[in-house]
Amino acid sequence: MSKKKKIRAPLPLLSEEISVIDTHCHLDMSAYEQDCDKVIQKAFGAGVSKIVTIGIDLASSQAAVRLAEKYAGIYASVGIHPHNVEGVTDRDYKELTLLASHPKVVAYGEIGIDLAKKYAPIKMQGEHFLRQVRLAKELALPVIIHDREAHTEVMAILKQEAPFPAGGVMHCFSGNMVFAQEVLGLGFYISIPGVVTFNKAEEMQEVARKISLDYLIIETDGPFLSPVPMRGKRNEPAYVLYTAEKIAQLRDVDLDEVAKRTTKNARKLFGI
Ligand SMILES: [Zn+2]
Ligand SMILES: [Zn+2]
Repeated sequence: MSKKKKIRAPLPLLSEEISVIDTHCHLDMSAYEQDCDKVIQKAFGAGVSKIVTIGIDLASSQAAVRLAEKYAGIYASVGIHPHNVEGVTDRDYKELTLLASHPKVVAYGEIGIDLAKKYAPIKMQGEHFLRQVRLAKELALPVIIHDREAHTEVMAILKQEAPFPAGGVMHCFSGNMVFAQEVLGLGFYISIPGVVTFNKAEEMQEVARKISLDYLIIETDGPFLSPVPMRGKRNEPAYVLYTAEKIAQLRDVDLDEVAKRTTKNARKLFGI
């Protein structure tokens, strides 16, 4: 019997002492249930020095904090994703507020508006977004924004509530250069996901090429949106290296340079 050969693309290699940060991953999701520790160790071994695991509701925010307690290189964010705002109570917000004071909670989010899926009524998404933007400001935490096909709606609230002394990030950025400039105008970072490696992602590639490296950070959004050459498979923090490599190619600079600069930005944003 002939064995099927497993072709494994090697991960892009960083120089010694150089590392990257996966600023957005969902390590508590069931996709990692079987091998979460392995996934985390693989990432650390490949040069991912830190991972921010993101809350999408109260339970996942609690799970994120537990993971952050377990691993020195893992940090947590807490918040209610626009998909999950239905049925959220004042009590949930009280719990989130308490949780946010944990020393390893470094951001509030992900929060925002999602008009692609519309899992929750739009009006309700807007109300919870506004409430959480205000809560994040009260807590003096940077905000992690989820904006899917909702640039106008998201920006209206952010502009109304600006300034953001603790900063923020437009996670999984989607949009053109004009929108990118608007986001930078708020003092926010732009987070480039694995989508930038897709052939058709021309607009995002332009943003990744032209926006100063002072304002870019990188993320996997794992388990979703795996970059090429892992496209279609489960995404995981180690694959943030493919995204960094693609940005380096687009800008015609070293992978190390992209790693260094995005790491510096992420450390500044999250205070880690
Ligand atoms: Zn998101
Ligand atoms: Zn996410």
